[in-house]
Amino acid sequence: MKRKVSRRLDAWRQSAEWRAISRAHCQDLNRQRALLPKCGAARKRDGEPCMQTAMPNGRCYLHGGRTPKADDWHRPVWPKGHPRAVEKMNAKLRDIERARKKREARLADLSPEERQAHREWQMAHKPGKAVDRKRARGMRKANAAARATLGVDQSYPPSPELVRVTRAIEALEKLRAARSAAIEEFALGAFD
Ligand SMILES: [Zn+2]
Repeated sequence: MKRKVSRRLDAWRQSAEWRAISRAHCQDLNRQRALLPKCGAARKRDGEPCMQTAMPNGRCYLHGGRTPKADDWHRPVWPKGHPRAVEKMNAKLRDIERARKKREARLADLSPEERQAHREWQMAHKPGKAVDRKRARGMRKANAAARATLGVDQSYPPSPELVRVTRAIEALEKLRAARSAAIEEFALGAFD
């Protein structure tokens, strides 16, 4: 049922005095907002600071805080303080499960070439945190540069395992050569 607004209240809301009070209040709020700390993230438009009102973490609602970033991007977070937290969390988990099934179906539908490309990508990209990989990359680069400037011999003595495998390969190669020679001889002899 619609609530009836009394005529007196209606008249008061249209009065010049009420409007003046409202305007002053809005202006006051805007002045307060202008003094609040601003988000310093680089905005997409021109790279200048974003200047939206910042949350306690120093970023605005668009630039930080709500969704975990980097390696925690897909990690579901408990909706703290939400009145229907359990339902919300369950919906998140359902979404993740749905995405997983979709991904699996897509992988099952790949053509042999696409599957090969996918496997190669997986082999070429190490799992783990991006930060750790970046650090390891930096260390490798620095070590290579140091070795180059110091003129250190970069060849390592072969490991016992490598020696063993190399010998095994040589033995197998010899065996294969001997067998193919024998097969050739047999084939030549068969049709004399
Ligand atoms: Zn921002």
